[in-house]
Amino acid sequence: MENVQHKVVIITGASSGIGEATAKLLARNGAKVVLAARREERLHAIVNDILAAGGEAVAVRADVVSAADMQQLAKFTLDTYGRIDVLVNNAGVMPNSRLNELRVEEWDQMIDVNVKGVLHGIAAVLPVMREQQSGHVINLSSTSGYQVSPTSAVYAATKFAVRAISEGLRLEESAASGIRSTVIAPGLTNTELFDTITSPEVQAFASQLSGKGIAPASIARAIAFAINEPDDSLISEIMVRPTAL
Ligand code: NDP
Repeated sequence: MENVQHKVVIITGASSGIGEATAKLLARNGAKVVLAARREERLHAIVNDILAAGGEAVAVRADVVSAADMQQLAKFTLDTYGRIDVLVNNAGVMPNSRLNELRVEEWDQMIDVNVKGVLHGIAAVLPVMREQQSGHVINLSSTSGYQVSPTSAVYAATKFAVRAISEGLRLEESAASGIRSTVIAPGLTNTELFDTITSPEVQAFASQLSGKGIAPASIARAIAFAINEPDDSLISEIMVRPTAL
């Protein structure tokens, strides 16, 4: 992966699932990876795995809900590696429920992490990437960014929003400053995402689907593919679904 090699890549939500798989794949292919999330012990364990395999990685505690944390994450990356080539806005939560359960705090949490988190990431790296006249922002949407189902209204709204933000960024920046914007839309993937569900009805439904998704490594390959394309080629959207569902 020639165009992945030596790139400096920040990944949010890198302490498990898709973020972890992406960090490991990119590091195996020569990227310098900055892993961010809230669970520091998990991040350090993953960084140790990457270093033991001969890769380059560092861990930074950052809550995407905090714009200040995201600014510090960008500053740390610049101080450490001198540039920021890619931001993977991957952190996300999915405590789905029916609207009439009125789980307002969970709605707020989804909007804070899945939407504001993406915006805080963009705010932290955009000035750097404009200065560099190059960069790549990869945002994790979902098949729920294209279709709504009962219990997913708020989560789907956040993932529709991620697509809108990604498209706006592409329209404003790709021609003007060479910054690429990519949406990755996974279908069901076997990760810890379903642990954020607290509604008993949705938990019961989710447990029937447990293990029926695709491996996080499949999504990591799609992300790596978008990064690896030559800088004049912009993969604006990739959807990856389980074959069997
Ligand atoms: P995981 O639960 O395994 O990973 C989610 C990550 O987000 C964790 O590393 C978690 O780390 C991090 N995170 C959550 N809240 C915050 C926060 N406030 N600040 C920083 N990091 C946070 O799930 P996935 O790997 O599946 O999720 C990755 C992305 O993929 C999400 O955006 C999700 O919506 C999307 N997606 C997943 C699908 C699936 O079926 N799994 C399908 C479609 C899209 P920590 O708790 O340590 O902070």
